Amino acid sequence: MSWTECQNVLNLPEPIEHRQLERLDENSVFKSKCPTCKHGALLMNRDATTLKLIRTDNCILCGQKFLYVGDMPEDTLSRTKACAS
Ligand SMILES: [Zn+2]
Repeated sequence: MSWTECQNVLNLPEPIEHRQLERLDENSVFKSKCPTCKHGALLMNRDATTLKLIRTDNCILCGQKFLYVGDMPEDTLSRTKACAS
């Protein structure tokens, strides 16, 4: 990885809405394209013990950090009740 590619690693986290991101892969609702460098990926993390989705993420290519604001994708792993709405 060159310095140019990881230049965003020291930037402050960028607030973004997850639902407005472009999905990286149609089979996953969690993986998104990085809106900063357009080539990297945001893979979304889970808490190792609670398995809840974590609202902070970073691009695996450019290193830009993000903070998810607003609605998160439907989380089938940590969901406790069926949601009818
Ligand atoms: Zn990126």
